[in-house]
Amino acid sequence: MKKIENVRVRIAPSPTGFLHVGTARAALYNWIFARKHNGSFILRVEDTDLKRSSKEMIESILEGLRWLGLDWDEGPFFQSERLAIYRQYTERLLKDGKAYYCYCTPQELAERRESAKSEKRDVKYDRRCLGLIDNERKRFESENRGRALRFFIPEGETAFQDIIHGEIKKKNRDIEDFVIMKSDGTPTYNLAVVVDDHEMAVTHTIRGDDHISNTMKQVLLYNALSISAPRFAHLPLILGKDRSKLSKRHGAVSVSQYRDEGFLSDAMFNFLALLGWNPGDNREIMSREEILEQFSLERVSKTSAVFDQQKLEWMNGEYISKMDNEDVLKAVIPLLKGEGWIDEGAIEQKRTFLLHLVAALKPRMRKLTDFVKYSVYFFKDVDAYEPKGVKKHFAEKTLVLLEALIEKLEELTDFSKEHLEHVLREFAEKRNVKPAQVIHPVRLAVSGMTVGPGIFDILEILGKECVINRLTKAIKYIKVL
Ligand code: GLU
Repeated sequence: MKKIENVRVRIAPSPTGFLHVGTARAALYNWIFARKHNGSFILRVEDTDLKRSSKEMIESILEGLRWLGLDWDEGPFFQSERLAIYRQYTERLLKDGKAYYCYCTPQELAERRESAKSEKRDVKYDRRCLGLIDNERKRFESENRGRALRFFIPEGETAFQDIIHGEIKKKNRDIEDFVIMKSDGTPTYNLAVVVDDHEMAVTHTIRGDDHISNTMKQVLLYNALSISAPRFAHLPLILGKDRSKLSKRHGAVSVSQYRDEGFLSDAMFNFLALLGWNPGDNREIMSREEILEQFSLERVSKTSAVFDQQKLEWMNGEYISKMDNEDVLKAVIPLLKGEGWIDEGAIEQKRTFLLHLVAALKPRMRKLTDFVKYSVYFFKDVDAYEPKGVKKHFAEKTLVLLEALIEKLEELTDFSKEHLEHVLREFAEKRNVKPAQVIHPVRLAVSGMTVGPGIFDILEILGKECVINRLTKAIKYIKVL
């Protein structure tokens, strides 16, 4: 791979929401690109929309990035603290006649847009305030109208070379004189991003391709300011499995929610990396190192990526299955504490039991929270049975079987899973039933569920007394069915 010198990239989240999947994927590609070329990864918070930005969102975004292991080298910089810098640039554009004040009110603009639409005319800004004469300006000012600064779009065509999409161009007449500074003096996104990418010496702007139309405007600004633009790479959109825009319907949309639901940072990293990029073979489980080694912007796909929640769960399960039992235990203890099933003081004493449980449940876990879901009956008594299981496995004839089984179990001194398996199979054979005819009702009786880890693991972990109590309880339940 050819190393590119002095790579400087950035992620520029707007703290008007949580760190969503699209921003996280963009952050990840930028981070990988920076690390691969020994460059710098900059964090810039685009918080000029102070009304919609909040401290909690900023904190949550930073936390999401940290959780994914995307450490930044510079920043966080806050656009809200850089207003004077943007002003220098807007003043320059104004002085050079490349921007002009617009006094049109939002209401007037909306009305004109509506009538243009209904008359099938061009809806872009009609340049009413371009070349206002002094009297008109004075009148507007005396009316206390706010004034926004608009950028004047010159004639011609604008083009840029995208690393992923190749050349992208647009006729300037299809771009309106957009606002670069709002009437409250704050810059708009397009102006601030150009100033910041330039001031921060960003070499590659890597972001979602929903920004392509903004990039056109930004290229025009770079040209008007006679500063050079970074290279651009626009990442494909992320869609839900039904190919609609990713939304809550498809699962979580914020990265922290995935963390809270029990996804692992490494699995999430791996999954996000493959949203729009692949190593060129069919490898799916890849470590950070492998991804770093293989990644290139040229291999990023032009077409949309599909966010497949099931694939993420599968991948997470693969990562969990490779974890040490000790590490899984460490990760699930806060969840167990959260449920009130265990407290700090009891952890050491229950360590063997807990590790045993981890070993039994780990192969079935796709999320850390599955541990809670699958282990409830190891911490609490069973007080309900899955109805479909009751129908299938709690028949009258099972009563006799369970009663006989209790007698058998009472005799046992060895309650290890190996011995239990042997005992149960022998028991089934003697009574001329299939082992499954014993195992299913027993599973339902001791766990309340029809599926779970190996039954002999369950029995061994629960222990003799508990198993016999639960079988007795189930018998009572069946009797009154
Ligand atoms: N604040 C913008 C966003 O979150 C940044 C886009 C960009 O990277 O320029 O979409």
